[in-house]
Amino acid sequence: MVVANALMVTAFWNTRPSSASAASFDLVASSAALKRLMDGNQRFRHQLSLHPDQSQARMKEVAQAQHPFAALLSCADSRVAPEILFDEGIGDLFDIRVAGNIVTPEVLGSLEYAVEILGTPLIMVLGHERCGAVTAAVQGKRLSGHIGSFVKAIKPAISKIEGTSDDLVDNAVIANVRYQIGKLKQNSSILSQKLLDNKLKIVGGRYDLDTGEVSLI
Ligand SMILES: [Zn+2]
Repeated sequence: MVVANALMVTAFWNTRPSSASAASFDLVASSAALKRLMDGNQRFRHQLSLHPDQSQARMKEVAQAQHPFAALLSCADSRVAPEILFDEGIGDLFDIRVAGNIVTPEVLGSLEYAVEILGTPLIMVLGHERCGAVTAAVQGKRLSGHIGSFVKAIKPAISKIEGTSDDLVDNAVIANVRYQIGKLKQNSSILSQKLLDNKLKIVGGRYDLDTGEVSLI
């Protein structure tokens, strides 16, 4: 059934919208992209991965042009590899990985490229359980070299939740995803316009290291 759904989405993907219904089509495309991501994660976490789009034929199919259906801003953490945890392959995901999944000018430019030039209808900012970058920001210890640069980018996100009694780091992971999404919306006229035109959806996610599940925030 999961395979059938994936095939239906793929078929839908290749359909060209008429100009009259372009806006509604785009909104559906964003929703279909999100469903495809979450379906892939369900396969992964239940050990039912299909490992799609990893053949030599697929490699050749996308060699000249890419049309990734989703862009991911996720952490550099070695346990959070999007193609694996969403059960996707070559040419499917536009990945940006940086410690703490923070928005920098380069990250913003990369996401604008995915949306504006490649036509990607979905951005997911993906935080994860026990994120070292977020933990460093919560602890506020002095850090060597350039490590402090990403801590500085996370700090504003956690200022509001400090002092709460729950799991501080986990709360901070979620707050950081929300904060970085806010930065995307505030700092990019390209992304804002796409959102207004219903051509883009931006969502947040939290990856559970213990279960392999991605939950929407
Ligand atoms: Zn992390």
